[in-house]
Amino acid sequence: MSTIGFLGLGEMGRPMASRLLHAGHDLTVWNRSTERTEPLAREGAAVATSPANAAAGADFVITMLATPEALEQVLFGSVGLAPVLTPGQVLIDMSTVGPDAVRSVAARLPQGVSLVDAPVRGSVPQATSGRLEVFVGATDEDYGRVRPILESMGTVRHTGGPGSGAAMKLVANLALGAAIVTLGEALALGESLDLQRDVLLAALADSPIGPIVQAKRSNIESGDFAPSFKLRHAAKDLRLVTEAAAARGRELKQARADRAWLDEAAARGAADLDFSAVVATIGRNPG
Ligand code: NAP
Repeated sequence: MSTIGFLGLGEMGRPMASRLLHAGHDLTVWNRSTERTEPLAREGAAVATSPANAAAGADFVITMLATPEALEQVLFGSVGLAPVLTPGQVLIDMSTVGPDAVRSVAARLPQGVSLVDAPVRGSVPQATSGRLEVFVGATDEDYGRVRPILESMGTVRHTGGPGSGAAMKLVANLALGAAIVTLGEALALGESLDLQRDVLLAALADSPIGPIVQAKRSNIESGDFAPSFKLRHAAKDLRLVTEAAAARGRELKQARADRAWLDEAAARGAADLDFSAVVATIGRNPG
């Protein structure tokens, strides 16, 4: 069993940290809003007063934060953890921040500290039950070290060297963004052609976007978009996708259109709803 510092107890971080605790690891947690540490403390985790504190004496330090900007703050801010990391410690970033942020962080860590990128596919139910898919970018040696820890959170896939897990996650979320926007547009078209919503959803459940229809049908039918994966994060991911593509000379026209819909939904007040709320924004669009 290992000593682990875990930073970022949002929708995903809290159940992921809980899995590590119940797997028997010695866990210290930190979160910007301190009240979010309370459930973990009740389960037996120690609570650190700063990111730097959470890293002290840890074999592994895990970050699960909202954005590249949040990661930068937690690592390199005034009480950031990066400067206190020591040779032999492994920093595992599980946030969705893209490969460019991962490489930028890796270049600034103290000598002898390893960075592994391990973002996840799956949402709160999968995080709670240990059925996430973890994309791991790491050297073979680091992969061997982190694998037993990550396996308590789900299925672990070694995608290649450092940065490749973050890259794979962007690819996965390009597909997710395309699927939810396609569903929104398919419903908008169908309803404007006077087809009933339940007829449309039943037919689309057997189409190439079937998995997203099955996952989000109840949200769409009930109009209840309580967040599991916040729309602001889906919009952030499409931003990272389009920026990474542009930096490499790739024109991704569909991803840009998907991003525009998510940004519009966020601007119209859906940022903190589930990302499937973009379907409602598309449906309300007068055309
Ligand atoms: P969340 O519920 O919004 O939690 C975000 C976490 O980041 C919170 O702990 C928040 O602290 C912290 N944070 C934000 N800005 C910060 C800053 N400037 N300094 C320090 N801490 C900061 O997000 P989530 O759903 O857990 O997602 C976390 C990451 O996983 C994101 O990158 C997301 O894209 C990705 N992801 C999410 C899902 C999903 O289904 N939810 C699935 C796969 C991947 P406070 O509590 O203080 O706000």
